[in-house]
Amino acid sequence: MAWVRFFSFWIYPLLTGLLVFHSDVQRSQASRLLVLILIGLAIWSLLEYLLHRYFFHWTPQNPGMRKIIHQLHYNHHQDPRHPGKILVQPLYSLPVSGLLGWGFYWIGGSFLDATGFLTGLWAGFLYYEWVHYRLHLGKNSRGLLKRQRRWHFYHHFVDPDHCFGVTSPLWDAVFGTWASPPRHQENVTTEEQRRKQPPRHKKNWPRAKRPEPDSVAPSERG
Ligand SMILES: [Zn+2]
Ligand SMILES: [Zn+2]
Repeated sequence: MAWVRFFSFWIYPLLTGLLVFHSDVQRSQASRLLVLILIGLAIWSLLEYLLHRYFFHWTPQNPGMRKIIHQLHYNHHQDPRHPGKILVQPLYSLPVSGLLGWGFYWIGGSFLDATGFLTGLWAGFLYYEWVHYRLHLGKNSRGLLKRQRRWHFYHHFVDPDHCFGVTSPLWDAVFGTWASPPRHQENVTTEEQRRKQPPRHKKNWPRAKRPEPDSVAPSERG
């Protein structure tokens, strides 16, 4: 059911439209709304890093919590090209969005503030979802996408304790988890991505085998 898999790609724009309509934004409030959207985007950028590093890679003792973490991210590490394991499930993203929106409403004191903040947050989240999906299932890529793939595949196939940022290496650089991935990393082929390694002893996180440059099709070499 593709419409469920790509839930975030239509429900969040729909919710944004409803929020903007409901908040009855006036022309004079446009600059304030823009600032709030930018704040939401910046907060998403940091959240993308923190959630991935501290929540998605957490190994809880509680079996129920461990099941949630597995559904959210561990299963994706085990099978990075499975289309149903790449995107965040709405079961998790909607309540978190609601909580953050309520928090911003509480801090900002107006529905407009919460609308602007959530619009920026969701724009960042959708960009993340789109980039993450393309990194794993897209074919050829250039420019920024190629770099993003190199960083993200380093995290998947070389060292899951580095390169937590998917869309940007900014917070990895700030918090000291940046690593310089080898240049061939963005050229991992489909079959190579499917390889699974025994769980890493340190954190029980799967790490796929690092691809050999020679096994990459000549046409795919960058
Ligand atoms: Zn991934
Ligand atoms: Zn990860």
